[in-house]
Amino acid sequence: MTINFSDYPCEFCGKTSTNFVYAAFVCDDPECIEKARVERGGPGGHMKRKAEGKPIIPLDSEDSRKN
Ligand SMILES: [Zn+2]
Repeated sequence: MTINFSDYPCEFCGKTSTNFVYAAFVCDDPECIEKARVERGGPGGHMKRKAEGKPIIPLDSEDSRKN
């Protein structure tokens, strides 16, 4: 599965997203990532590393389904 981040604006500021964290598309801004985290309900184990600003390509769709 390929996600084209340029097709999905950041859900919080509207810029082009670069990350998919906590079931939300977000840009690199830590504030947006934090908002996504809060909206999602808090830290979620392995999802945390993705929230640390590391670009991710959602290859781990199996993990995503568990959340
Ligand atoms: Zn943003």
